[in-house]
Amino acid sequence: MISVEEALGKILDFVGVLEEEEKPLLDGLGQVLAEDVYAPFDVPPQDNSAMDGYAVQAGSIEGASYEAPKILRVVGEIGAGSVPKVKVEPGTSVRIMTGASLPQGADVVVPFEATDEVDRKRTSLSEAEIGIRSSLPGGSNIRRSGEDIAKGELVMKRGSVLRPAELGVLASLGKGVVSVIRRPVVGILATGDEVLDISQPLLPGRIYNSNTYSLAAQVLGYGGIPKPLGVAPDEVGQLSKALCLALDCDMLITSGGVSLGDYDVVKQVLAAEGDISFWTVRMKPGKPLAFGTFKRDNGKKVPHLGLPGNPVSSMITFEVFARPAIAKMMGKRSWAKPSIMAILEDSIENNDGRRVFARVVVRKREGKHFASLTGPQGSGVLTSMTKANGLAIIPETTEEVKPGTIVEVMMLDCEDNCD
Ligand code: AMP
Ligand code: MG
Repeated sequence: MISVEEALGKILDFVGVLEEEEKPLLDGLGQVLAEDVYAPFDVPPQDNSAMDGYAVQAGSIEGASYEAPKILRVVGEIGAGSVPKVKVEPGTSVRIMTGASLPQGADVVVPFEATDEVDRKRTSLSEAEIGIRSSLPGGSNIRRSGEDIAKGELVMKRGSVLRPAELGVLASLGKGVVSVIRRPVVGILATGDEVLDISQPLLPGRIYNSNTYSLAAQVLGYGGIPKPLGVAPDEVGQLSKALCLALDCDMLITSGGVSLGDYDVVKQVLAAEGDISFWTVRMKPGKPLAFGTFKRDNGKKVPHLGLPGNPVSSMITFEVFARPAIAKMMGKRSWAKPSIMAILEDSIENNDGRRVFARVVVRKREGKHFASLTGPQGSGVLTSMTKANGLAIIPETTEEVKPGTIVEVMMLDCEDNCD
């Protein structure tokens, strides 16, 4: 048996970063930037107001207070988007809106709340003037051009993952098309004489193909493009034919047929069609795993990850082995899932020296994380995965973990459930 790290290392050694592609900005969400982006201009492009108020000179409002306001002449008004035609001079002001370009001469914006504007509107005081009720230092409530990004600056490096904030920054630079590493196409082939497509009526002795759906959803969730290839029976000829459907994929994932049963033909076919490494991995669930490659016509090799058929095993081995491979192909540099330390509320036995990935629900109580088993841990009990938000990792060398022990939990869907 080899360790999880050894198996993952061999898989990652084989897969490489895919090619670049150009995409409209929004379509690049979740992908990795394949170019360095420099700022073609300052952001913001011009000095502008951070408040609705009056643009003035700091010197004009020195010593202003509620009781003794400084009265300034109003020489104009600037809305966002227009170019100021007026200038601010000592003793004058310009009414200005948030985001509007700062007029020449102004170095402070006094917010409406610090003026007597409302009182003027209510009374007969002239609106050609404004009373400033507080003194503000130069630069107050002004966003300087280039304050966020300076022209010529390296704003985003090749290798950055494009999240919503990155897309926003690129848009602020007027970048409508981005160069990104393309997403891998991952073929998904279920195997097994008993496995039936969900479009068919359920027949005696048969089960529905759930693996294709959970695996395709995992591929999608981690940024790949799933290509479901149906179900192949446990027969060498037909399985070989089905493998051809994956020739244009960047990776093939099969489920089932890698154990030691009479009909476990995946490894037989792989051995005949390409190179195969078949391993028993020191983990539970998910001991049997096949990894190999088969050749395309152009001589390029397609990596093939043969996951076990049990629905829980296939999902967990996907998390551990396929997800990092997809991330690497997408150009990501790190793929560790967030993990937390939690207090285990059940006991877990580990009597055959494998690394256990136990399905747990993590809940936070009084500032501490607690992990409890989702119930029966059979690798066919797929509903246990619907209850779990994490996988507690019990090391190979630990024979028993008692309630109250602190264990590492790899979080499965952190966005919703980490708190
Ligand atoms: P195998 O790895 O082929 O021995 O399959 C192990 C177990 O997983 C068996 O009970 C299979 O019926 C089940 N299984 C295999 N493939 C699928 C699938 N695509 N969907 C649901 N269960 C499956
Ligand atoms: Mg089978």
